[in-house]
Amino acid sequence: MEQARHRMVDEQLARRDIQDARVLDAMRRVPRHAFVPAGREHEAYLDRPLPIAAQQTISQPYIVALTAQALRIGPDTRVLEIGAGSGYAAAVLAELAREVVTVERHPLLAAEAAARLTSLRYGNIRVVTGDGTRGYPERAPYDAIAVTASGPRVPKALLDQLAPGGRMVIPIGPDEHQQELVLVTRSPEDGRFSEHRLGAVRFVPLVGEDGWACADGAWD
Ligand code: SAH
Repeated sequence: MEQARHRMVDEQLARRDIQDARVLDAMRRVPRHAFVPAGREHEAYLDRPLPIAAQQTISQPYIVALTAQALRIGPDTRVLEIGAGSGYAAAVLAELAREVVTVERHPLLAAEAAARLTSLRYGNIRVVTGDGTRGYPERAPYDAIAVTASGPRVPKALLDQLAPGGRMVIPIGPDEHQQELVLVTRSPEDGRFSEHRLGAVRFVPLVGEDGWACADGAWD
């Protein structure tokens, strides 16, 4: 598994545009095979997302690395993630940052991610169950915010909870087929926001108060 993981970093990340040495090292350390469903461990280091419970996905390794690199996370950075899913991206972010708060709307996924991250001894991650389009004001502001589900717009609460000088990466698009990964930066001088496009992506929907409505109105 370790060999497969190192090959993944060399071939899928370093050979593309992931140059940040700390990000590459973090991706070499986190055992992605511990985050995929039982029986699919042999697929963990392929260049693709994989299905997890509750019809959700664990993101493609390259997209996790691209997000982490764009967020420019240092050892003192405090990170908010929306969409814990398997907990994989939270683990990568936690290798780079001081602390990570990750919000997940599916109680089952949140519980499984929390248990997995505890057994892997990630002591600097807090998993919260709830609607991440509201952010997590209890620990705000954040230096970096990673949203791993795609919404129609940037939720206002997340803009409010981004510190001056902070960075946010979020997929935005009108439907499940057309989305752009967007980097939002907040000026340290005047607090204003600017946006850069990082490329076309496909994520599962961001479902919540300031995201998409759930089709059947149910919470999960
Ligand atoms: N970062 C995850 C990717 C999970 S896919 C990983 O590395 O495995 C996106 C996740 O976002 C799904 O688990 C989905 O349930 C969750 N999600 C969707 N809308 C949400 C919301 N409003 N708040 C919190 N989580 C949400």
